[in-house]
Amino acid sequence: MALAGLQIQKLLPKTNCKECGSNTCLAFAMKLAAKKTELSECPYVSEEAKAILAAESEPPIRTVTLGSGESVFQAGGETVMFRHEKTFVNATGIGLAIPDTLADADIDRQVKEFAEYRIERVGEILRPDAVSVAMCSGSERRLLAVLERVAGLWPRAIAVRTDDDSALAAAAVKLRGRKPLLASAVPATAERLVKLARETGSALAIAADNIDDLADMATRIRDSGFKDLFLELRAGSLCERLQNNIILRRIALKAGNKALGFPMLSYVSTGDAMDDAMEAGIEIAKYGGLVFLPGFDPAMFVSLLTLRQNIFTDPQKPIQVEPKVYAIGEPNENSPVFVTTNFSLTYFIVSGEIENSGISAWLVVPECEGMSVLTAWAAGKFGGAKIGAFVRESGIEQQTRNRQIIIPGYIAQISGELEEALPGWKVLVGPQEAGDIESFVKNVLKVA
Ligand code: SF4
Repeated sequence: MALAGLQIQKLLPKTNCKECGSNTCLAFAMKLAAKKTELSECPYVSEEAKAILAAESEPPIRTVTLGSGESVFQAGGETVMFRHEKTFVNATGIGLAIPDTLADADIDRQVKEFAEYRIERVGEILRPDAVSVAMCSGSERRLLAVLERVAGLWPRAIAVRTDDDSALAAAAVKLRGRKPLLASAVPATAERLVKLARETGSALAIAADNIDDLADMATRIRDSGFKDLFLELRAGSLCERLQNNIILRRIALKAGNKALGFPMLSYVSTGDAMDDAMEAGIEIAKYGGLVFLPGFDPAMFVSLLTLRQNIFTDPQKPIQVEPKVYAIGEPNENSPVFVTTNFSLTYFIVSGEIENSGISAWLVVPECEGMSVLTAWAAGKFGGAKIGAFVRESGIEQQTRNRQIIIPGYIAQISGELEEALPGWKVLVGPQEAGDIESFVKNVLKVA
């Protein structure tokens, strides 16, 4: 938990020398608490105070990184229970778990397909994050051979899963430099695997069936100074999974328990694709750090990646497109002129429906701070005067002779105000729902 200004002041020299740019140490402490300055601005702060303040400024859920170079994956770093309190920081990683018993050709096909898989949604590229190889063959040699194949095909985070700590040790050595995740240590193997993870620069997952055992192990490891940890609390049911994740997040955030302040790892494998999707969805919605699925089904991944994007979008910074006039298709000087807001989801739905209607058009998108149509209108960002001013400044009047502008049906009430702001233009009220644009184009605009 972050320290308050008064607590920080007690750690400062209290000489009020002003060298930090603040008039008093208290004023500087208040700025530090509000994250408006850096501790390094005070040249006289002691090493002990620096260490305390650095530890206190760590997020309650530690950020743990997997992978190397430009292909790193980060989990944790979270500071809130609910995203509307601030924002969530690192989106739940979604990965593919493969057994080393799969035939080589199947491994190559699945991993290549997985590595190439990406979707674009509201202007963002969404893709999965990690591949985990499980030793199901019982052969360390086979595990290492499969890891070599996967490492050659998959550039991002890799996990290795086995209860055999000798095989895990060999895998860690093989993947040295890739910062893999070793899954998972249990009390009997924890000490050896922590040492190995340190030596090979790996992250380590620790697994238990209940919170007490997990907390005991995590406390010992954290006290030893090793902090590249994931927590795997094995759950017997969907309900238990949800409950566990909420309890762990609350303990870390509300009780300030640093031993349990690490990202959570889970392997989903119910035997039923729909149940797998449900369990992975719970991990994404409620605090999972990294979740692995037992197969690659694009239909499932598109749903999970979309869910993840929705949950991890910063509610205070909606995804926006640049305010400007967009050409949809190949519009000319007679093409219709539509207007909508710069909230990405709204823009992409409206532009997609215009495209689907088979016509080319101009789409005028004023600055609305990323709000949707009704929200922007209610906030005074999408009224007649603002749209009118944007149209005049945008240059659209030089691009088209058409002087008819189509506004969303939900803001029909601004028609008069917009006509006043745009002399010479006629305002046409379009459909309320973007899905009705196609029939509007055919039946009202009567454009073939
Ligand atoms: S520089 Fe340090 S000691 Fe001087 S006023 Fe600022 S916080 Fe206090």
